Amino acid sequence: MARLALHWQIALGMAAGAVIGVALNVFAGTATTSVVADLPAGLTTATVTATVGRTVIETIDAGGRAERVEVGPAAGAAGLRFDSLKTLARERPELAGLVTKARQPAAMVWGEWFQRLGGLFLRMLKMVAVPLIVTSLASGVMGLGGATGLGRMFSRTLTYYVTTSLLAILTGMAFVNLMRPGLGGEPRPAPAPAAAAHTGLADVLFQQLESLVPDNPLAALVAPDFLSIITFTLAFSVFALRVGGEVATAIRGAADAGFAVMMAMTHAIIRLAPLGVFFLVAATTATQGAGVFASLSAYMLTVALALAVHAAITLPLVVRVLARRSPWQFARAMSPALLTAFSSASSNAALPLTLDCAESRAGIRNRVGSFVLPLGATVNMDGTALYEAVAVLFIAQLHFGHDLPLAQQVVVCVTALLASVGAAGIPHAGLVMMAIILQAVGLPAESQGVILAVDRVLDMGRTAVNVWSDACGAAVIDAWENADAAAG
Ligand code: ASP
Repeated sequence: MARLALHWQIALGMAAGAVIGVALNVFAGTATTSVVADLPAGLTTATVTATVGRTVIETIDAGGRAERVEVGPAAGAAGLRFDSLKTLARERPELAGLVTKARQPAAMVWGEWFQRLGGLFLRMLKMVAVPLIVTSLASGVMGLGGATGLGRMFSRTLTYYVTTSLLAILTGMAFVNLMRPGLGGEPRPAPAPAAAAHTGLADVLFQQLESLVPDNPLAALVAPDFLSIITFTLAFSVFALRVGGEVATAIRGAADAGFAVMMAMTHAIIRLAPLGVFFLVAATTATQGAGVFASLSAYMLTVALALAVHAAITLPLVVRVLARRSPWQFARAMSPALLTAFSSASSNAALPLTLDCAESRAGIRNRVGSFVLPLGATVNMDGTALYEAVAVLFIAQLHFGHDLPLAQQVVVCVTALLASVGAAGIPHAGLVMMAIILQAVGLPAESQGVILAVDRVLDMGRTAVNVWSDACGAAVIDAWENADAAAG
């Protein structure tokens, strides 16, 4: 029997994970426990109902008085409410004791296990990421034969990154201004404060600049700090070429050999992607309550539509016109990486697959892929840029009851671009960066609380778009480099 193509296997893994996760969430998302043993003094009955993301404790004391206490971010509930188990443990330790005796819903228990199993796949990808980037980049640069080609490729790459990220932001802004998900409807309850970073934009960008100059390249490898790794490897390879002779030949040989081994390892790990993706998607769907989606559906729809337009119209046009490739075939070649980006919500985690798919399946030359893709995983984030713009304008609509004036929207556009450059390629990085944009337009950082609950799902979508844009960039630069070589 013919073996199913890898991207179909991954898609099947994803679908199966979603079905099982949602089923668990719907049918096993609640566990009710009547606590009988060791009741706190004065209580006659205590029932704990644990739902995904929310716990309700109902007690009756010896005098017949009933009390209902809710723990979780759900808003508007009757009775006393605490935002987390930690707060409950501080203020009502006797009730927190009841919660520890209660059963967890099966969806949570299974969800945690799925997360750990999917985590094994992510660990494998992390394991190969650093040596793969180093050997791939060194082998690519040593193959270039000089630093001039590198400078040209660098400026082309940056131009591509900025242009597509701006296009993404403008798409997001058009959608949020047209659909106005934050206007009309019920006023939202006061949001819970977010764990946001309180650093300024200049600070964040300067940190990126600092990463470009690692003070300790070995520490950068250990961290790992991708930008530092990229600059040091680039410098090392360029200087190896300058030293020339036997040294350059030896280093090139070592880089090529290391790269061949790392590619073989990556290939082997990628075979596990269907299983890894299955567990990651099942974990997310099992542990995300369906209720949170309903309340923010207009906002989620706006983000999803804008992401879809950028990914399915703008970027394919770029690939068709500038890279002269069939966008459809290119997307199929890249699909294992895109699906892994989606399920892991991390550009960094997907990077080994992105490199492998670009080179082995899409035929992009190593010297282009090994440069454009790792750099893109850290600085080129179209999906994140778009998402930041939509989220901040949505929050502004909720907060002020009207759209932000044009001048403020321009501020959002520029800061969203810079924040996307500053965001790391890890889950929820965009959320942390958003504090900077909120600050720039005078919104309190706490106002971010409303969108926290649905961030994970949107993170999956925007990460896939981030990686898709990196891949399209590699295709475009590859075509330009090819044209130069032909004209050459
Ligand atoms: N998770 C995204 C990525 O890795 C970054 C973000 O949170 O927007 O690309």
